Amino acid sequence: MTDYRRLRVALLGAGAVGSQVASLLLRHGDELADRAGARLELAGIAVRDVDAPRDVDLPRELFTTDAEMLITGSDIVIELMGGIEPARSHILLGLGSGADVVTANKALLATHGPEIYEAAERVGASVYYEAAAAGAIPIIRPLRDSLAGDRVVRIMGIVNGTTNYILDRMDSEGADFDDVLADAQRLGYAEADPTADVEGYDAAQKAAILASLAFHTTVPLDAVHREGITGVTADMIEEAREAGFVIKLLAVCERLVDGGPESISVRVYPALVPRDHPLGAVHGANNAVFVEAEAAGSLMFYGAGAGGVQTASAVLGDVVSAARRHIAGGTGVGESTRANLPVVSIGHVLTRYQITLEVSDEAGVLATIAGLLSDGGVSVATLVQTVIPAADDTDRESARLIIGTHRATDSALSAAVDRLAASDVVERVVSVLRVEGE
Ligand code: NAP
Repeated sequence: MTDYRRLRVALLGAGAVGSQVASLLLRHGDELADRAGARLELAGIAVRDVDAPRDVDLPRELFTTDAEMLITGSDIVIELMGGIEPARSHILLGLGSGADVVTANKALLATHGPEIYEAAERVGASVYYEAAAAGAIPIIRPLRDSLAGDRVVRIMGIVNGTTNYILDRMDSEGADFDDVLADAQRLGYAEADPTADVEGYDAAQKAAILASLAFHTTVPLDAVHREGITGVTADMIEEAREAGFVIKLLAVCERLVDGGPESISVRVYPALVPRDHPLGAVHGANNAVFVEAEAAGSLMFYGAGAGGVQTASAVLGDVVSAARRHIAGGTGVGESTRANLPVVSIGHVLTRYQITLEVSDEAGVLATIAGLLSDGGVSVATLVQTVIPAADDTDRESARLIIGTHRATDSALSAAVDRLAASDVVERVVSVLRVEGE
């Protein structure tokens, strides 16, 4: 057996991901040593409660509640506690004492990323976070390394498994949001408090991380436009299906050129995606990230976006990278923010809308609606009209209009929707969805 140098590894957290990381580190020690060129010695595991039951059997003597003691003197710190504090302080302590850090903590990186990357840069250490966006799917390293010679134009990601599971079941079963959410909670696909997932907060954190990396720009979380899926109804899903679309919660990171100085847009919302787009075929709780780059063209990364053992795979890949760097010496990878492009607000983004209206079925209504749209520079690309029969003799017939617009700025489109909602001929604005991936 090769006599490798030993690296001391501190693991913070032994929950869904941490317990699997510990188990794999202990089980595959020899193989990992060959790959890393160093023996990865699990020095200890910091938790809140050393006696709590674990998903896998792990040696009792490894557990401690003294994270700081464990971190001090470690070569690699793996942070899998989640949350902001004490994860942030522990990571800074590790970096300050010369350790490389591996983390899966998207919430922390999306809010305190620059502070952490700067701390790493000061001491020449590295922060690895492959598992922080899209779980087991390799997307950070491709963006950071494989595409370093290219220019990323757009990323469209399904980066939240819970919402994809809910939308996919609504699509395949015609079920209502509330029923599928309740079932998802029962089956463990959704948390008891599903807000972070269904309101798009989790996807927004991942979008900020992906956009920062792809566009060499610091993207603060509050610059990410965010809408969730709680307003998506079974009717909207059915209408989307009839028009050849599927509704997906997308994280879109886009480089905007349009003749002027470059800028970027980062946004999360439910959007209509053509059913034959690769993202249209992402089912269940799976994740996928579709990347368009100037030279490489379209690339699709697909797989498990969560799960303890799946995420542990991405974490261990980072641990091997960290070990190799530690052995090789020199300064760490560092985050590139050299472009520092401005992040524009949603109003400047060019998209296409699909607007569904219920209108009174009278002569001249279509002309009125086309006029209300064109007043703000929005033009109609497609129109489907169906008659809604009167409920009884006293009622009047209505019509349902599904209007596909040409591309316009989001501010022009939303102002047009406001004008439609205020108009006498419009009985109800049923839904407004953006179209992506055409
Ligand atoms: P988890 O199951 O909640 O486990 C958290 C672990 O951290 C527990 O072992 C807990 O100790 C420990 N911990 C929490 N606060 C602590 C504190 N103040 N001091 C000491 N220990 C503390 O979390 P997880 O699902 O494994 O997620 C870990 C990280 O991976 C998070 O950042 C998460 O966003 C990210 N991630 C998770 C997944 C996934 O599928 N789960 C996927 C991608 C990324 P006790 O066990 O004693 O309570």
